[in-house]
Amino acid sequence: MNILLQNWEYPPFDKIKTDDYEPAVREAIAEAERNIEVIATNMDDPTFENTVEALETASQRLDRVSAIMMNLNECCTNEELQEVVMRMEPLMTRFSMKVMTDERLYRRVLNSERKTLSTEQQTLLENTLKGFRRHGVALPEKERELFKRNAEELSELQVRFGQNALGDLNDWILHLTDEADLEGLPQPVRDAAHDEACNHDLDGWVFTLSAPSYIPFMTYSARRDLRERMYRAYGSIGGRGNGRDNNAVIRRIVQLRAEQARLLGYDTYCDYVLEDRMVQSLPNLQRFMQELKAAVLPAARRELEEVQNLAAGSGQSLMPWDFSYYSEQLKQQRYDLDSEALRPYFPLETVREGIFSLYGKLYGLHFEEDKNIPVYHEDVHVYHVSRHLTDNDTSVDMGLLYLDMHPRPSKRSGAWMTEFRGQHGDVRPQIQVVCNFSKPTADTPSLLRFSEVETFMHEMGHAMHGMLSNVQYESLSGTNVKRDFVEMPSQVMENWCYEPEFLATFARHWQTGDPLPTEYIDKIRAAQNHMAGWLCLRQLNLGMTDIAFHTMGVENEAWKAEDVEAQAMTNLLPRIPGCCTATNFSHIFGGGYASGYYGYKWAEVLDADIFSRFKHDGIFNADTAEAFRREILSRGGTVHPATLFRNFMGRDPDNKALLKRMNLI
Ligand SMILES: [Zn+2]
Repeated sequence: MNILLQNWEYPPFDKIKTDDYEPAVREAIAEAERNIEVIATNMDDPTFENTVEALETASQRLDRVSAIMMNLNECCTNEELQEVVMRMEPLMTRFSMKVMTDERLYRRVLNSERKTLSTEQQTLLENTLKGFRRHGVALPEKERELFKRNAEELSELQVRFGQNALGDLNDWILHLTDEADLEGLPQPVRDAAHDEACNHDLDGWVFTLSAPSYIPFMTYSARRDLRERMYRAYGSIGGRGNGRDNNAVIRRIVQLRAEQARLLGYDTYCDYVLEDRMVQSLPNLQRFMQELKAAVLPAARRELEEVQNLAAGSGQSLMPWDFSYYSEQLKQQRYDLDSEALRPYFPLETVREGIFSLYGKLYGLHFEEDKNIPVYHEDVHVYHVSRHLTDNDTSVDMGLLYLDMHPRPSKRSGAWMTEFRGQHGDVRPQIQVVCNFSKPTADTPSLLRFSEVETFMHEMGHAMHGMLSNVQYESLSGTNVKRDFVEMPSQVMENWCYEPEFLATFARHWQTGDPLPTEYIDKIRAAQNHMAGWLCLRQLNLGMTDIAFHTMGVENEAWKAEDVEAQAMTNLLPRIPGCCTATNFSHIFGGGYASGYYGYKWAEVLDADIFSRFKHDGIFNADTAEAFRREILSRGGTVHPATLFRNFMGRDPDNKALLKRMNLI
């Protein structure tokens, strides 16, 4: 029998072959379809158990198989696996769409007996119903067809938006052959530009509009004329009047999203999205944005003035292509910070032990490596996580943690947390944290940058959200929470990285054993708050643009994205005609962040606020941690996050803690 379809205790990585995936996925889909059919055609009256709970577990085997396949495709892939995923993904999408648009299932859920449900069961029922409705299944036949056609057109348009933006991005390069044109650029930036030139079969240096090339150029190039050329080229992505016009794509996307929302009974697309978020409603979100904007605007103006003054010294009045450059100059004048100097204090192993022992202090967690559990790559380490309960002095099993810390060609870049299995009932989770920290060499351990220590803490925050979960249903466990709440438990952990008391527990120079000088940390924090008001305003501007597009009237087709954006943003620098963010705003037009861009700032407000209680009670205070575990981490998505937050903090979120952290109040 296919190894993937067997009932294993943990993923049998030592036995799985790439050939096993396709037949396993096909069989698991067939099994799930049979389970679904049994539910849909059940002759008994619908109950919570025979319908809602049955749906929750109908595709469990498929979920397990696909979790392994999809997770490995991210961190340990090969061409063959990529091809299998390309073939299997549409089948899995088709299956879930078929379920979510099955009217028989919807009717049964709708009519199921619901008198004696627990809070968690009530949430599961509501989520299930909402899932069906948001797929249009409750609509009359004709409208349901329209909804489906729109959804298909929308997914095509999103792909086209991304292709247009990428096409324009790749179409343009800045080719320099005179070394004098590189004035101000650090050597590594020049080297990368030289490599880029080689890729293009050109002499000299090539700069492109992709972030790793564009951002350093705009930050360091002393050549104002070239910065302007780069800026104008970047700003025209998706709006150059060629065959890749994202203005037209945006108009159609916005129109279709508005129509989808209207079909489902919402005033705007924003209302449709926000109903299923912690923020709950458009007026709440608008109040949040306005209040934060009012608080940071004076700081943003002040910071702009400082940058302006520096530029004026060089006889220039500030244009958008000058801001990054002069702001960087100001940063260097003020902080003179070498981020590399910190690395020797953060060897990976020591950082890991520091994080493990923090979780020991906070939640009584204990991590023990088990080399007998199969792994998919020799760099992966697996830990049994257990929790010591002080009331009766016993230890309970919490689950498995897979740490996969180093880059390799088969792994994508970045850092993330996923699960091979989520907690539910007595079943403990199996959680994976993947990072890309440099590998140790023969004589040097893996040394982390400070930002990487933060990354590690962040992902461990997600992992422990999953690990401390204590719910009945997997779809509500761990990190399965509202989208604008999921980053709170991870971001809150980053705060510990700035606490000398925590750093003192592990940060030592790997050769001399000297503790980390705390003035380094003060400097990092100060440098991190450089232009904090300005950057916050920028994020808010993007969030406001996102909202503007998803609340606007769409009857008049004459508008241009550029004008909508100009209206929505608070612009402190002159706007340049022909330059537009929206035509290249893939988060909201090419992917799933529509009406959700505000979430970055929202989560920051939450994490700063939550940490203020830890800071007040003591950062190792086990009672506070226990309250955080009990009221928030253990609850997953079983209770609305606004309620969870209130239960822990005793009040609604307040942006003061964030403003304080940014040094603005
Ligand atoms: Zn995260």
